[in-house]
Amino acid sequence: MSASDRDLTGGSVSNDPETKSPPEVSPPTLGDMDADAFRRHGQRTLDWIAEYLRDSERYPVMARVGPGDVRAALPSTPPQRGETFEAIFDDFEKIITPGLTHWNHPGFFAYFATSSSAPGIIGELLAAALNQNAMLWRTSPAATELEALTLDWLRQLVGLPDGFEGVIYDTASVSTLHALAAAREAVIPNVRDQGLVGRSDLTGIRVYCSEQAHSSLDKAMILLGLGQSALRKIPVDTDLRMRPEVLAEAIAEDRASGCVPMAVVATVGTTISTSVDPVPAIARICTAEQIWLHVDAAYAGVAAMVPSCAHILDGCDEADSVVMNPHKWLFTPVDLSALFSRRMDMVKAAFSLTPEYLRTAEGDRVRNLMDMGIQLGRRFRALKLWMVLRHFGAEGIRQRLAEHMRLARLFAEWVDAHNDFERLAPVPFSVVCFRAKPAGMGTDEAELERFNIKLLDALNASGEIFLSQGKLEGRYVIRLAIGHIRTAEQHVARAWELIQQHTQVLTGH
Ligand SMILES: *Cc1c(COP(=O)(O)O)cnc(C)c1O
Repeated sequence: MSASDRDLTGGSVSNDPETKSPPEVSPPTLGDMDADAFRRHGQRTLDWIAEYLRDSERYPVMARVGPGDVRAALPSTPPQRGETFEAIFDDFEKIITPGLTHWNHPGFFAYFATSSSAPGIIGELLAAALNQNAMLWRTSPAATELEALTLDWLRQLVGLPDGFEGVIYDTASVSTLHALAAAREAVIPNVRDQGLVGRSDLTGIRVYCSEQAHSSLDKAMILLGLGQSALRKIPVDTDLRMRPEVLAEAIAEDRASGCVPMAVVATVGTTISTSVDPVPAIARICTAEQIWLHVDAAYAGVAAMVPSCAHILDGCDEADSVVMNPHKWLFTPVDLSALFSRRMDMVKAAFSLTPEYLRTAEGDRVRNLMDMGIQLGRRFRALKLWMVLRHFGAEGIRQRLAEHMRLARLFAEWVDAHNDFERLAPVPFSVVCFRAKPAGMGTDEAELERFNIKLLDALNASGEIFLSQGKLEGRYVIRLAIGHIRTAEQHVARAWELIQQHTQVLTGH
């Protein structure tokens, strides 16, 4: 029997004998947009997207609106009656689009450049259509199992040993929070039950990272109730890498004063300069001291797929957990962060809690994703990553990452060869930290900073490129981050041209 032979609703309109008069005709149709209209509007939207991806350069990369502009252009009260899709789409084009900063523009060099590639977009579209909520295995066996499979592919591609299991969260900040929660579970007795407040058995907890580590660690410390002051920031060497001998001293000092070292976070690809902490040396310390080692490879981890970068995850086989973000440099639409751990049992021990209504007969034979973190419901994020990996293949991804790194080295050479510019950090991946230092300006840091702020503002106002800034050891740097799937040599060359032109204008040469 086919579905159309059955009445699946099973119900009928109320036959209440008290009803005096039948309802006026039939009520307006309820339910969703009809299938034909969906096909029409969906097709139009897909056409728009295809053009957008091909021609995103016709938009200024950084939004040109001022604060409040977008909101002021839209009605402040909600529509009482439905509107036509044409009217909605019209406002999308006229009001929303100008308020966008175009991450999918090949001149996007700010922060970490990312891309939503076509296969990833299709994956997101399908995930929205299917609306899977993979809280339990039985609420989406495919989402649950595809997540495990796809992350195992990624694990193999970056060369992590097979003891690592993966789980997807939205962002690296949340992945790291879960890793540190697992470390806390492993180190602090009864923390689930007793919490941390008013405990005389806890004299002090410490987590270690380098001075260059990401601010998400501070946030995790805040949320885990450990406090920011329990995060000890270890100095870096001249290449901005954590100094392991100082880490060892800090741990010894803290143990001597009665503190418990809970975790060390090493970074592979720090946020400003993309420096790589010496993970093998840090791992040796953690193994000897029995301290949880978490590796934050949010941006750079995927580069381990490229043979010349395979070493960047050296030492990670000793780590307890490693995070990398396919939504950063693996052409996957935001958001998708992958946490790998050799001790996923501790993640589960930290979070698993099953109320009666969520018990299922599958029991321990399956992974119920709700056990792996703070949230109950979960999006079907694995679908887009699976499609990205299949569409490009390992070879295709390696070639794209290698090309981004080649372009970054090329840009670094141009900077190095020019008297009015200086580079402020090595270039292990696809980010270059540099600044203008026009001949005759001298070495006053404040003056250099003011000049480079003006330069950056002028560049970003050009609409052709978008760059961001940072501070390295007190020095202001402009960052050029290459990572968009359509960024080619011509875009990097154009950026360099604009940088030189605007520097000349600002110096009055
Ligand atoms: C980008 C980044 C993060 C934060 O990533 P989200 O996914 O935005 O939370 C954390 N650590 C490092 C090293 C990063 O580069």
